[in-house]
Amino acid sequence: MRFSALLLTLAMTAASGCSGEQAGTADPSANAKASPASARRHDENSYSEPEKVRIADLALDLALDFDARRLSGTATYTLEWTDPKAAQLVLDTRDLEIRKVEGEADGAWSGLKYALAEADPVFGSKLTIEAPQRNAKIRVTYATSPQASGLQWLEPSMTEGGQLPFMFSQSQAIHARSWVPLQDTPGVRFTYSAHVTSRPDVMVLMSADNDPAAPRDGDYSFRMPQPIPSYLLAIAAGDLVFKPISARSGVWAEPTMVDRAVAEFEDTEQMIATTEKLYGAYRWERYDMLVLPPSFPFGGMENPRLSFITPTVIVGDKSLVSLIAHELAHSWSGNLVTNSSWKDIWLNEGFTTYVQGRIVEALYGEELAQMERQIDQDGVKADMARMAPQDQLLVLPPLAGRDPDEALSEVAYTKGAWFLQFLEQRVGRAKFDPFLRGWFDDHAFQSTDSETFVAYLRKNLLEANPGAVREEELDAWLNKPGIPAFAQPAQSRTFSSVDTARIAWRGSSQLPNPQVTSQWGTQAWVRFLEGMGEKLKPEQLAQLDKAYKFTGTPNGEIAMRWYPLALRSGYVEARPAAGEFIERVGRRKLILPVYEELVKTPDGLAFAREVFERARPGYHPITTASVEAILARAEGATQ
Ligand SMILES: [Zn+2]
Repeated sequence: MRFSALLLTLAMTAASGCSGEQAGTADPSANAKASPASARRHDENSYSEPEKVRIADLALDLALDFDARRLSGTATYTLEWTDPKAAQLVLDTRDLEIRKVEGEADGAWSGLKYALAEADPVFGSKLTIEAPQRNAKIRVTYATSPQASGLQWLEPSMTEGGQLPFMFSQSQAIHARSWVPLQDTPGVRFTYSAHVTSRPDVMVLMSADNDPAAPRDGDYSFRMPQPIPSYLLAIAAGDLVFKPISARSGVWAEPTMVDRAVAEFEDTEQMIATTEKLYGAYRWERYDMLVLPPSFPFGGMENPRLSFITPTVIVGDKSLVSLIAHELAHSWSGNLVTNSSWKDIWLNEGFTTYVQGRIVEALYGEELAQMERQIDQDGVKADMARMAPQDQLLVLPPLAGRDPDEALSEVAYTKGAWFLQFLEQRVGRAKFDPFLRGWFDDHAFQSTDSETFVAYLRKNLLEANPGAVREEELDAWLNKPGIPAFAQPAQSRTFSSVDTARIAWRGSSQLPNPQVTSQWGTQAWVRFLEGMGEKLKPEQLAQLDKAYKFTGTPNGEIAMRWYPLALRSGYVEARPAAGEFIERVGRRKLILPVYEELVKTPDGLAFAREVFERARPGYHPITTASVEAILARAEGATQ
């Protein structure tokens, strides 16, 4: 996922709108066997007991009802019972209406007893199914709630085309349980198939074998033959059309958006080929991208075979396509080799951010990769200054009682990638590249943990290169807060000249030479604005705005830096456009900094509240919860 946890400790309370402190007796970690060896292996964010029985295959048969904002039907599990004493199947659910549970024995289905526990605000309701016959197949008939945390339902007016409704899922981290009863842990992998019916005028897609030529008829079937963890289960429906980029890659989008998206993402086939050269074959057959409405709360989500992508990276100059490199990279790091619980998410996101940098470097040059690394590294250092020390570790302590959305931060992404760059620098690419490829090959379609990686690293890289990395250095990266003092920061040449231009302007009010700024891409402008410090004078902002048209920019990366600077400097001219921006876009990374700035004054808080009320019907529940937390905290502070 490309998520960017700016303001994480402040704004990112749980997607379920809860502080994550309510452990109580409903805490799934209460089920954990407390032996120290298994303590980190256990997934404390799931009630399921995969050490006793595992879902090997899931078959969904669902009706998609836009009017009721509901999915309803059956989930049929093929089970592998491993503990001979086990006679229960425990599933994760959230806000689901469970209508019936049946088990198959000798070809006949009969009812099974079950109990749905009271809901925990973070983890949902534990569903315990009694299966004394240890049935090979169990079937649950259920319906989702219109408020399902993992689904968003959009009115036609909230889409680009404005004609048809739209819906999509976001299952990571623990939202799959709000639309399918599951062992909702990344430690369990299953194959799946689905039959989905809907109104005939919308196209339905899943993280499966979507057929670019499928007729739009309201009756769709899917298969995902490769085993995936629950958080990669995905569905979307709307006025979606397909345009190819290559024989195995293309874009699904609303008709008004698809050509722009294909142009922006035209390098995707080259990205796939580049990554294959480094890390081995792409193992998922097709790689398509689905462009979502602007309300998608994240940058992207690596749903297998069908990455979900924010439209905010379509800016016309391909300057933000490292997001595509990121989601594609997950086809190796994350989707193929998966963290077995969320406390090891750096295995997904740190590795992916590293691979993303390698793809960007190969296609667009070392300098762009360095600029992006430098922005990320400056960002994570700023974030860490506000974070609890235990949240700054790569190998996180168990997340008992915590929502994994709330525990996720830029540390997993940027510190994780930085650690891999450090290893690469110490042994050289000639050794590091085959090592990383070996890690993916040897753990393909497996869920794994930090301990397994560190053992693999010692055996396959460090033993053959004694002295390359000292034990204390390894420990500093993995188990200590902060960024190790010996880490080499990324350094961009372009940024040095951007810094020079900014300093000169601040001293002289002379804008940089247009011949210089005409060469600047998004990253250079980001650097230019990020270095402005706390405040500028309104006349300075007016001068910049006149020259560079920042107010009203269609580029969200620039907007998320310009509006907060303008607002805190008292440049009131920018406020209406800032309001339009946060009303139109729902991507959390881009709009939360603007809300954070607005709520600092009573007048700004009232304005933010007003905009939020208008924007709310179009926001995703995850974004709504984050904005509500910012407003509630500000309102609490002013009382
Ligand atoms: Zn990611």
